[in-house]
Amino acid sequence: MRIATVKEPPLGEGIMEGQFSRSVEEVSSMVGLEDSERKILEDADAAATELMTSEFEKYIERKYNPEVPEVLKRHGLMGVPISKKYGGRGARQLVQSLFLERMGQAGLGVVTFVDVHQCLGSLTIQDWGSDEVKERYLPGAARGEVILAYGLTEPEAGSDPASLKTTYRKDGDGFSLTGSKYLISNGSVATNMIVFAYPEEGGKGPSAFIVDTKEKGFEVDMRLEEKIGLFTSDTSLLSLDEVHVDSADLLGAEGKGFSVAYSALLNGRIGIGSGCVGVMEDCLSQVRERATSRVQHGKLIGKHQLIQRHVAFIESSLEACRWLVYRAAMKKDEYERNPNDMALRGESDRLSAIAKYMASRCAFEAADRAVQVFGGFGYSIMSPVAKHFLDTRVARIYEGTDEIMELKIASSVLGRDFEAYR
Ligand SMILES: Cc1cc2nc3c(=O)[nH]c(=O)nc-3n(C[C@H](O)[C@H](O)[C@H](O)COP(=O)(O)OP(=O)(O)OC[C@H]3O[C@@H](n4cnc5c(N)ncnc54)[C@H](O)[C@@H]3O)c2cc1C
Repeated sequence: MRIATVKEPPLGEGIMEGQFSRSVEEVSSMVGLEDSERKILEDADAAATELMTSEFEKYIERKYNPEVPEVLKRHGLMGVPISKKYGGRGARQLVQSLFLERMGQAGLGVVTFVDVHQCLGSLTIQDWGSDEVKERYLPGAARGEVILAYGLTEPEAGSDPASLKTTYRKDGDGFSLTGSKYLISNGSVATNMIVFAYPEEGGKGPSAFIVDTKEKGFEVDMRLEEKIGLFTSDTSLLSLDEVHVDSADLLGAEGKGFSVAYSALLNGRIGIGSGCVGVMEDCLSQVRERATSRVQHGKLIGKHQLIQRHVAFIESSLEACRWLVYRAAMKKDEYERNPNDMALRGESDRLSAIAKYMASRCAFEAADRAVQVFGGFGYSIMSPVAKHFLDTRVARIYEGTDEIMELKIASSVLGRDFEAYR
């Protein structure tokens, strides 16, 4: 159920009622789900429905939506991909994607929170942490007491993480980290953040650490609220001044930080692609409603063929991207069953980049076309499609820009000799 949150906005009608574009039963018959997997999607629908009002209100206020973790906790959805052994729901990647797709119908702000906490955060700890570390963080992450962020980007290191400036040195029985992290989602609300840093003395690649954000020396310098969209997601600038990290909180071996970072991004990109599919579903249902209720030139605008072209584009993009995302997710599941197969890992990485690249571009264009179908009301901040238009732009930037995805995809076709950089 889409919820009417705004009464008669100045430029047009209120937010219309809608519904999830496909029932859990339909999805289940398409991809084959077990009862426990169907239950995750039913819970996702309940959570997304509950979140729609606060998401829209916070978007209008241009503020982070603190309801997101609370509602997810209530529905037992904070640890969807975390193993049942640690209190999660043990979802395979395909189910995680279907879950994020449904959350996407509530907007990309919700998707960003979930993707960072679960795909970049929890899964990375699950994949790279020792048993002790998994015991320390994953049950709390599944309950929502631990909230995770992922700190790769810095003011001078975005697409090129090799130029990170954050450093660490050995400090008693642990490490001490100093530097700054920029544009970090969940940055000011996280209890823990995965931070990438080079050794102060040089000579090795970066390492990945789990940092406690309450530790002395960790500061939130600024909540970045002057964004052009994605207002409901927290984005922060953080600094670390000799922040202590226990030796057990090193993820993977020292010097393996890039392997940790890229495996996280592989999961994260499928997640963002999935969320973008959900956004397209909402665009389609909003457009369907508008095209079959608004009359101009004596007929429903949906009977004008040029409006049908927009409907056709959104529907075709949705179908194409949905299957790209599922394919990437299924390949990831295949790799999980064969973790020593590096060819599968490479293919999984490639498909995850393609899924994110296509779904983020199509979601932005779908939102743009939805604004067009809504006409003047589409240009109002109060229209639900305007929110998608503003929010989806970032999906073409974070977790690898369009250009970085293009370089990756092209070199997978042309061969390693054509890699633009190494
Ligand atoms: C809202 C938001 C949330 C974010 N959340 C997180 C987060 O949680 N954690 C995190 O670590 N980061 C996060 N980021 C950062 C994001 O991942 C980076 O912004 C992104 O990787 C691009 O880096 P940059 O902004 O430094 O751009 P730059 O790397 O400076 O790129 C500028 C332009 O140059 C292009 N470019 C760069 N190198 C090449 C090349 N070799 N060939 C061709 N073109 C190139 C880029 O594609 C881009 O168009 C977030 C960003 C935003 C906006």
